[in-house]
Amino acid sequence: MDRIPKSRGPEFWENEPGPVWRGCQMDGRRAVHLKCPSGHIGGLYNHAILKDGEVRPSVVCPEPGCTWHVWAKLEDWAAASPAEPKGQEAE
Ligand SMILES: [Zn+2]
Repeated sequence: MDRIPKSRGPEFWENEPGPVWRGCQMDGRRAVHLKCPSGHIGGLYNHAILKDGEVRPSVVCPEPGCTWHVWAKLEDWAAASPAEPKGQEAE
């Protein structure tokens, strides 16, 4: 199980090395962006995320040719409230 740290904030996201995750909104639903260690970004739209941050099923980087494939656990998931202020996570 790979532990994925949470992004330090929107101003850091672009330059943060992966793996890292951040919350986002997709059609009003809470979703997650993941950045792999090679810097590719994908979304967890069809995954279940347990209360403790464990992601099911495993995560595969969407970038062709990238071999990143892990069982992921999102650090600080429980503390990241779905009600995080809007705008803070905006694109
Ligand atoms: Zn990748």
